[in-house]
Amino acid sequence: MGYDNNNIFAKILRGEMPAVKVYEDDATLAFLDVMPQAPGHTLVIPKVGAENLYDLPVEAGAAVFRTVQKLAPAVRDAMGADGIMLNQFNGPAAGQTVFHFHVHIVPRFDDVPLRRHSGQMEDSALLEEQAEKIRARL
Ligand code: AMP
Repeated sequence: MGYDNNNIFAKILRGEMPAVKVYEDDATLAFLDVMPQAPGHTLVIPKVGAENLYDLPVEAGAAVFRTVQKLAPAVRDAMGADGIMLNQFNGPAAGQTVFHFHVHIVPRFDDVPLRRHSGQMEDSALLEEQAEKIRARL
């Protein structure tokens, strides 16, 4: 199939679609998931066009993981989470729905089940509030 330049995350990277951003550097962008499975659910993407783990350049993977490690404690503390879960899906059979490589940072709370993947749109004012709390901890 190959990388599709018109996927939604490519559009976010080009500024053609809005996103509630929490962090950006030369190689990566992080923003809140619009259909979060938990409060503070954050996505980290590389700026290079890679569909999944199989075509992701190693350097881009390293840059994504550097950003994940920077953000995870900030997301945890901002949301008061008990734990942080990372998800990364490759291919529809694995649950991938957006075909630009990404890592999910999902806050977890004791005895609180996850909301459904790609379930319900979150209120944008609430997302902005959460992003502000995360940015304040970076
Ligand atoms: P995956 O199933 O791993 O491909 O995850 C894609 C994720 O992107 C899902 O959790 C969606 O809720 C999320 N998502 C889809 N569109 C947007 C968007 N425009 N901004 C932020 N998150 C999005």
